[in-house]
Amino acid sequence: MSPRTTRGQGRLYDSVVDTIGNTPCIRVNNLAPEHVELYVKAEFFNPAASVKDRLAISIIEEAERRGDLRPGQTVVEATSGNTGIGLAMVCAAKGYPLVLTMAESFSVERRKLMRFLGAKVVLTPRELKGFGMYQKAVELAEANGWFLAHQFETPDNATIHENTTGAEIIADFAGKRLDYFVTGYGTGGTVTGVARVLRKARPETKIILSEPANAQLVGSGIKQQRGSDGAPAVGHSAFEPHPIQGWTPDFIPLVLQEAIDNGGYDELVPVSGPAGMEWSRKLAAREGILTGVSGGASFAVAMQVAEKAPQGSVILAMLPDTGERYLSTPLFENVEEVMTEEEIALMKSTPGYQMAGA
Ligand code: PMP
Repeated sequence: MSPRTTRGQGRLYDSVVDTIGNTPCIRVNNLAPEHVELYVKAEFFNPAASVKDRLAISIIEEAERRGDLRPGQTVVEATSGNTGIGLAMVCAAKGYPLVLTMAESFSVERRKLMRFLGAKVVLTPRELKGFGMYQKAVELAEANGWFLAHQFETPDNATIHENTTGAEIIADFAGKRLDYFVTGYGTGGTVTGVARVLRKARPETKIILSEPANAQLVGSGIKQQRGSDGAPAVGHSAFEPHPIQGWTPDFIPLVLQEAIDNGGYDELVPVSGPAGMEWSRKLAAREGILTGVSGGASFAVAMQVAEKAPQGSVILAMLPDTGERYLSTPLFENVEEVMTEEEIALMKSTPGYQMAGA
């Protein structure tokens, strides 16, 4: 084997926002069953470490193009975290003030990251859920004349996934089988945009959509009631709080509705929060791939698909963000700060450099 070398990007970047996208599809070697090829699309390679960087740049640049966003105008959005972090990165780079509304139940790292990136974060009560934080963003936008990003309704969401995420998958799997694409939904931007591309260029690829086992909004078949702008009029009755942050808000987003209405997926597979955490932990410890609970959850579904898939099948699962975003959450609850018994035994196995009192 020759030594590993690298060659640089062959270009210089004018702004951090130009580094968004082009995330790698990586083979899963140790966990995947032998009879398939399993890949993950690692969105933590984006500059603010999640898939939502794509949405953030799309919302801001499309609004600039249309003249909906004036230079220096404040941007406001309701976000469970990654959209806020992505928007904070984009707004910092482009000089827009940003205010984010967020239910207090989401992880503290997310809040701190948004503030670190220069945004203001307004917390909303846990019991008012996603609907409450959204209503707060609407109220603030109307009261102040701010630009509301509308991630759950804007066409700029699915468009960026069509033009980037979907296009990248087509390019990376050119000349190769792709039998299954597995993803969950938050806004639905990923599945709706990627489905547009795959249905045209790869009609043979089965699109597997997932949602939390205890919040099967799509699976319930119960229609979402909407206002005239497509935003939810009420929370969905099938919603229960679930631990897969970034997936399935307490309503069916308008952006996702296109995939539901136009056959943008072939199969809907529910997955439990604990299964998502288990596979996130395994991806980290057995593959060196650091992703959050939603990545673990789509990977859990991909593993189920893999077990049943014919010999030689090629499967791709989305990993929306980095595991580092979950340090204060149950994902890391079994990771000790102090030495384990095994580590203490290792320490004591040689005479020097021992910690007293361990
Ligand atoms: N996982 C995480 C961690 C997310 O933040 C999001 C976006 N809310 C998703 C998955 C789902 O992506 P999308 O909004 O494109 O459906």
